[in-house]
Amino acid sequence: SERLKAGLSRTRTALTQPFASLFAGHARIDEALYEELETILLSADVGVEATQHLLAALRARVKRDGLTEVDQLRGALKSVLTELLAPLEKPLVLSGHKPFVIMLAGVNGAGKTTTIGKLAWRFRQEGKRVMLAAGDTFRAAAREQLEEWGARNQVEVVGGSGGDPAAVIYDAIQSATARGIDVVLADTAGRLPTQLHLMEELKKIRRVIQKAEPSAPHEVLLVLDANIGQNALAQAQAFDEAIGVTGLVLTKLDGTAKGGVIAALAKRRPIPVRFIGVGEGLEDLQPFRVDEFVDALFA
Ligand code: GDP
Repeated sequence: SERLKAGLSRTRTALTQPFASLFAGHARIDEALYEELETILLSADVGVEATQHLLAALRARVKRDGLTEVDQLRGALKSVLTELLAPLEKPLVLSGHKPFVIMLAGVNGAGKTTTIGKLAWRFRQEGKRVMLAAGDTFRAAAREQLEEWGARNQVEVVGGSGGDPAAVIYDAIQSATARGIDVVLADTAGRLPTQLHLMEELKKIRRVIQKAEPSAPHEVLLVLDANIGQNALAQAQAFDEAIGVTGLVLTKLDGTAKGGVIAALAKRRPIPVRFIGVGEGLEDLQPFRVDEFVDALFA
């Protein structure tokens, strides 16, 4: 879609121009071409591991299909990239449980609150009844921001500032169950005095959610800012080990040329990317679709 293309414009610029000169600058598929391609992929934050993987897959493809023309390489590259990213495409399906409880985690500034607002809007569009649980009780601003999103989407926000985050979320789930709410979006803090504290608190929240509803949380979403590039891998690992992340939201892809990090994630920690953020508008949180994504990069 045009929105996606526009949203990915920086990563596209980082790739298109170099790709164009790559394909124009080489008469044959040779070592020099592979080397140049390696540099391009690394500079788009694809990461060493995923870059090596893509190059090896590309060489294998070239050999298998007997490709000789540089022109044929574009299609081959698209297809090996699509194969690498394919396991990440598993859209979030809200099924089976009422309320469907989504716990959101991520460091401050990653775009967690904005993502909650955009998700609330999306679910409301689908006719769902939504409740927001203000589990970031450390930042008064977090609660206020959530209130704003709630008001904009006519969605109730449960919880006050101060107090125990786990208790806030527990109460929200109880109340949502009693009132036939479809989806609970539970916010959590993004920064505590120490990183260790944060993970311990998130683990506790997860346990308490399960106490409120044994099948919950039905989704544990980690919100990652694409601008952090390769650091996304370390964050994904730390959060996953603490709370068992079931889906990723990659935000701010519109503001970065580091969109290649998604390939690095696919190689190292292939957690489904449920949504990508490609702008500040409500509609700029989009389900991740590999074909669309790869097409937008190469368009
Ligand atoms: P939180 O601390 O994780 O809750 O982060 P916020 O939701 O407050 O977001 C931090 C900033 O990033 C805000 O200015 C948001 O508008 C912005 N933001 C979040 N997602 C996106 C996105 O996909 N694209 C752009 N351009 N900005 C975003």
